Amino acid sequence: MNDCVFCKIRDGIIPSPKLYEDEEIFVIRDIEPKAKCHYLVIPKKHFKLLSEMEKQDEAMLGRTFAKIASLAPTLGLENGYRVIINQGDDGGQTVFHLHIHVLGGEKLPL
Ligand code: AMP
Ligand code: ZN
Repeated sequence: MNDCVFCKIRDGIIPSPKLYEDEEIFVIRDIEPKAKCHYLVIPKKHFKLLSEMEKQDEAMLGRTFAKIASLAPTLGLENGYRVIINQGDDGGQTVFHLHIHVLGGEKLPL
């Protein structure tokens, strides 16, 4: 039984509006936003860490970053944004399904 919250959102078991979706990724709002705009960009494929990536995931992640750049203006991020990937306990990761935080909509503190 897969207990992963992002797999459950991917599969529609936990409702969360998808702001964007394609065959590789989906985008939702973070439930506890740390900025005016706080999105999570989530690969549909479940893997925990960058270190668990397979060869084909590298290209997928490259396309994901290009997609973030092209979606940014439609997400209220035309003035810039911050991209964060927390990794492991020391990195503050709490959901162990790789995801990219995208924050903006205001001047972020350093
Ligand atoms: P991280 O700490 O990098 O693993 O990030 C996990 C993020 O997922 C946190 O910012 C949480 O607020 C967010 N989160 C957890 N559950 C949900 C949910 N059901 N819908 C949206 N965001 C969530
Ligand atoms: Zn998952």
